[in-house]
Amino acid sequence: RRRKGVIILRGHKNYELMCNLQRGIRHSLQRPASATSVDLREKVFDTKEKRWTKITQEGSNNTPPHQSSEFKFKDYCPTVFRTLRTLLKVDPEEYKKSICETGPMRELSSPGKSGSFFYLTNDEKYVIKTIKKAEIKVILRMLPEYYNHIRTFENTLISKFYGLHCVKLTGSTQKKVRFVIMGNLLGTNVIHRCFDLKGSSHGRLAVKHESKIDSSTMLKDLDLNFIFKLRKSLFREFSRQLDRDIDFLEQERIMGYSLLLGVHFRQVSHTGEPISCEETFQYELCLPLFPAANGALNSGSATPTTKPVSDPNKEGATRLSMNVPARAEQTKKNDSESQSIGKRTGVYYDVVLHFGIIDILQDYDINKKLEHAYKSFQYDPTSISSVDPRQYSRRFRDFIFRVITEDT
Ligand code: ATP
Ligand code: CA
Ligand code: CA
Repeated sequence: RRRKGVIILRGHKNYELMCNLQRGIRHSLQRPASATSVDLREKVFDTKEKRWTKITQEGSNNTPPHQSSEFKFKDYCPTVFRTLRTLLKVDPEEYKKSICETGPMRELSSPGKSGSFFYLTNDEKYVIKTIKKAEIKVILRMLPEYYNHIRTFENTLISKFYGLHCVKLTGSTQKKVRFVIMGNLLGTNVIHRCFDLKGSSHGRLAVKHESKIDSSTMLKDLDLNFIFKLRKSLFREFSRQLDRDIDFLEQERIMGYSLLLGVHFRQVSHTGEPISCEETFQYELCLPLFPAANGALNSGSATPTTKPVSDPNKEGATRLSMNVPARAEQTKKNDSESQSIGKRTGVYYDVVLHFGIIDILQDYDINKKLEHAYKSFQYDPTSISSVDPRQYSRRFRDFIFRVITEDT
């Protein structure tokens, strides 16, 4: 299995930055913390409490000495994120190991156009994204509601955030880099196709030629050439949760998010081409469901379930994604660049889907309004990805329910 991205070794332009992030996080994790109940007090959400920690070369009780220049580190709402990790069943020692001790991270080739950088921990359990100040503000603003949402719906599809940090380089630059730590939605299985779906058609074609597609191509709405079918009970669970999640995002006036959908084909040829399955599909045939860490199938779990998948490396640890058996019916593209899904072909594949709602940190601010007004001159406004949150959520929902359906 090919590993993604560029490994960050000494000499890489972000080597120091990532070492600083790891040092800062280790420092925070080692700070003594009293046990808190999951009923958090208002105080812990207080964002005015700005706490910078100076991480010096000499080190301290919580930080080993280091060679690079001293820097400042900020851990936002540490009690909230610590409690979120507890709720999400992340073992503190394992977390520290994943972020700080498993070896160098990888920098992914910047997949979005927003200018964010993405890093993958060496064990591939966590994705770390650099975010803007405005995005930090969005997280902090909605943190109490976000916390409640995650706490209430253990099957939520919304990105799980495990930590929010800022590294400030001292010296002449004083540059600040802000990070959010998320679970890697695509970490637990071999992903053969990956789609980032928003429900808008504008700029949503990633590749023009089928031959250019491989497992690392991030495909978009107009590239989608499948309809996914879930067994009734799974579909119910999925649709109920998707509705709750979309409502939540709409209430928070969030837009621009997408459904990240990783497709694992259960049967592939030796050249990696998916092999189609019988039309009358028996879900039971594709059991067992969850892959073990080495890529082999784990015979332990016999029944498909919508329960989030526990980390296959360790029983009962991190929940990373929803991971469900499905069948995929291939479709043939329509010629127009329209949003509609292509013609059905009657060719089916036996798949496991990994999905989650990502990129939820953009709210409907003035910039978006301006962008919308500007783009409206040139395009059909409803096809643009920046509309208002209500329109956005409707269009997103409509699209997702056209491509992920109930198997009948
Ligand atoms: P945009 O240009 O749309 O604003 P962005 O820079 O904000 O993009 P995201 O949309 O958050 O970036 O993510 C871009 C890509 O990074 C996704 O399409 C996906 O491939 C990958 N990615 C993001 N979050 C995760 C995650 N939690 N797990 C796995 N992959 C992820
Ligand atoms: Ca995005
Ligand atoms: Ca974004």
